[in-house]
Amino acid sequence: MARDYYGLLGVDKGATDTELKRAYRKLARTYHPDVNPDEAAQAKFKEITAAYEVLSDPEKRRIVDLGGDPLESGGGNGFGGFGGASGFGGLGDVFEAFFGGGAASRGPTGRVRPGSDSLLRMRLDLTECATGVTKRVTVDTAVLCDRCQGRGTHGDSAPATCDTCHGRGEVQSVQRSLLGQVMTSRPCPTCRGVGEVIPDPCHQCGGDGRVRARREISVKIPAGVGDGMRVRLAAQGEVGPGGGPAGDLYVEVHEQPHEIFARDGDDLHCHISVPMVDAALGTTVTVDAILDGATDITIPAGTQPGATIVLRGHGMPQVRTGVRGDLHAHIEVVVPERLDNHDTELLRKFKEHRDRETAEVRSANTPHSGGGLFSRLRETFSGR
Ligand SMILES: [Zn+2]
Ligand SMILES: [Zn+2]
Repeated sequence: MARDYYGLLGVDKGATDTELKRAYRKLARTYHPDVNPDEAAQAKFKEITAAYEVLSDPEKRRIVDLGGDPLESGGGNGFGGFGGASGFGGLGDVFEAFFGGGAASRGPTGRVRPGSDSLLRMRLDLTECATGVTKRVTVDTAVLCDRCQGRGTHGDSAPATCDTCHGRGEVQSVQRSLLGQVMTSRPCPTCRGVGEVIPDPCHQCGGDGRVRARREISVKIPAGVGDGMRVRLAAQGEVGPGGGPAGDLYVEVHEQPHEIFARDGDDLHCHISVPMVDAALGTTVTVDAILDGATDITIPAGTQPGATIVLRGHGMPQVRTGVRGDLHAHIEVVVPERLDNHDTELLRKFKEHRDRETAEVRSANTPHSGGGLFSRLRETFSGR
């Protein structure tokens, strides 16, 4: 049973090529998978595309007019066999051919376009990150051409409509396909899609409306920035083609490692090695705490190896709030490796005083009052 190809497209048997194309285009706008992802619509789209393919081919149309079905006579199974295998894979091409796949809205691109953003890296040490800093940097970007102010023209000359595309910004070529003649369009090679050319370009920028230039600008980095953070400077990026609005400049912070402090967010960490006797008797150690200068850290008597002393509010400031993190001093207790006779004598006396203290073998699972190995580890990892 021959399919009603004319009926599928909603045209009568005398329809001209133009009418066929118009009818197909109208239906495709409703049923094209890009427009209508519904499965029924996709099936319908295949049908109308098949109908158009048949009717726009004079040979096949004659078979239809004689009451046959050119798709059946091929030994295939009608519409089912109509797909990629039939050599008609690119339904997208059909769509593009008719509607331009965006080409319809392509048109001239316009000579003036926004510029792109640019990125600059800035090395800062920990102190600069903590205090914030204003630095002068050299930026190399496109800037507005001062001779033509972005117009791209020399003197009083004016741009002219492109002869190749007549101002449309695109050129079309005709290709033979299953659908008959198909128009495809691409950006005009003469004007690069702009639609106009500059017959007498500016001598300084060559018609681009912008030139590359190095300039110095001042960049204010707020206190509390950290590695990888970006500071945005609006409209300090690249000026666009035709003197279009400049993009933004981003300054990315690269924090240099500090000789003493390791940074974890807003907290600072350092290690303090304390001689065994100082840990036992207690002592005070002075550290240069970045923002606070010389800061005393009190090591209480009886401080154990691995203890952490936290100075609240002596860390880095938060960028937005300025609220400061903490400074963590991790205590190492240093046992003397060599003793002279006098030291040995003193320590033996000390031991005689403390003769009830002896080495003790304990379960590794049972914490004692000072905190067992594992409880200390747990504290370290949970940050308590
Ligand atoms: Zn210029
Ligand atoms: Zn052109």
